[in-house]
Amino acid sequence: MTQYEIYALKYAGPFKSSGAFLMWFKEWERVVERNYYIWCLKGKNETVVMDAGVAPELAADKNLTGYNSPADVLARIGVRADEVRHVVLSHLHWDHASGVTLFPKARFYIQNEEYRFWLKDPIAARPPFKHVSDERSMAYLASLEGTDRLVLVNGDQEILPGLECLFAPGHTVALQALAVHTKAGTAILGSDCGHIFRNYKEDWPSALIVDLVGWMQTYDKLRSKASSIDLIFPGHDPIMTSGYPKVKKDITRLV
Ligand SMILES: [Zn+2]
Repeated sequence: MTQYEIYALKYAGPFKSSGAFLMWFKEWERVVERNYYIWCLKGKNETVVMDAGVAPELAADKNLTGYNSPADVLARIGVRADEVRHVVLSHLHWDHASGVTLFPKARFYIQNEEYRFWLKDPIAARPPFKHVSDERSMAYLASLEGTDRLVLVNGDQEILPGLECLFAPGHTVALQALAVHTKAGTAILGSDCGHIFRNYKEDWPSALIVDLVGWMQTYDKLRSKASSIDLIFPGHDPIMTSGYPKVKKDITRLV
């Protein structure tokens, strides 16, 4: 089975918030930081990107702190975004999906249920959901529907040798994590299943949850799939930048 190396690429941040954002309903007084990331998986023959980050236009609209285009960050490790063939989208919040236009040749993998929710369910147009989504990237994905550039995944599914999408609801209706075969065993890119490592280590979610019971079940599933709890990676933890071997500016090798 193909083994992959996993790189974490910080493309924006740090952002400050109350600790209650990252540790649900506690630590209100603490000020904590988070970064925005995409991940790059390098295998013998394939390069796969997990999440698309934010496109430059949206970053300008939001005046994002510390922003570099995910395409420019990928270039630092010799990956051309416009040549990437596989992009796994964990979920359709703007900080993970807005950058789809940076990958004009990619095939996008997303859970069918997640796609249907954001594109077809009127609830997704209500304020709390609208607040965390981005219309331009949704329209772009909709334009790919029916082509081989949009793969709607139903539940757990191997997409390439050594890479399995895992249905992992809780943070959104159908977020998917990615199980990755590495030399350290099975690692899980959980994206925003947990914003920080502590969400997994302390069995306590972050604040943005649509289904807390589902989140606990997802957590159990990821925990049983990963070779070790240290191999479940969160979506926004600055430790992914500070605590792993640095490869290039803002890029570390996680495994
Ligand atoms: Zn996020």
